[in-house]
Amino acid sequence: MASAAKGPVTRFAPAPTGWLHLGHVVNAMHVWGIARERGGRVILRIEDHDRTRCRQEYVDGIVDDLDWLGFVPDSIAPRQSWKQRGERYAAVLAELEAAGLAYPYDCSRRDIAAEVPDRFGEEMRYPALCRERRLAPDSTLARRVRMDDGIETFVDERLGPQAQSPAEQCGDFLIRDRLGNWTYQFAVTVDDLDQGVDLVIRGEDLLSSTARQIRLARLLGRTTPPTFHHHALITNPDGSKLSKSAGDTSIREMRAAGKTADDVLNALAHGS
Ligand code: GLU
Repeated sequence: MASAAKGPVTRFAPAPTGWLHLGHVVNAMHVWGIARERGGRVILRIEDHDRTRCRQEYVDGIVDDLDWLGFVPDSIAPRQSWKQRGERYAAVLAELEAAGLAYPYDCSRRDIAAEVPDRFGEEMRYPALCRERRLAPDSTLARRVRMDDGIETFVDERLGPQAQSPAEQCGDFLIRDRLGNWTYQFAVTVDDLDQGVDLVIRGEDLLSSTARQIRLARLLGRTTPPTFHHHALITNPDGSKLSKSAGDTSIREMRAAGKTADDVLNALAHGS
């Protein structure tokens, strides 16, 4: 890399499970705004790890809409598809398995529900039922990574000091599903490590994922985790979460309706 910049390396990381929408644009404004202010770099990373939900037309649409809005990345990371990253992810999984940190699992949701009380509205915590079962590492079985007890602390740039316990939040979490899809938590952690991402700027809906990503990164040998900056999310006027599927928030629709890039950016910048 020719750059002598000492600024942070950050990334814009959309999942191509839908069109670019206003929530993405708010994220892009933070990512590019902070990176530019600090002399950093922005990597565009298309997070298409989930083969069942991602579509090429969304990838093309996202790239085109970003360009139309004027968000130009400094580099483009490999996609998270099997084709581009499958080998690396499989190697990381093998490393974790060799160290006894990942294991095959075949529990059903019902098996899990029978073990842990249903905490309405909360994430389901996996009670490590398969940890000691030593199932054969068959390629048709899903895999989980161990999350032993312990608190992870970090200082979010916007939200201040945080303490999260992955063992209590989610327990040993899924890194590859039964169909062979790598999970978001796994792919994002491996990629942030491999791509030298040292500043993660994303919506505060992902705050609770942070400790498990810090922990997994450490298991993979990362000594200094990235700095995290979780920004506020844009909501509907009634305060409800903006839905990705709602057509009226997609940049595609706005373009089709004759809006300019400045209309979109100004509306967001002025909070209307
Ligand atoms: N790909 C994730 C999403 O679209 C964001 C990943 C991240 O910023 O950690 O929600």
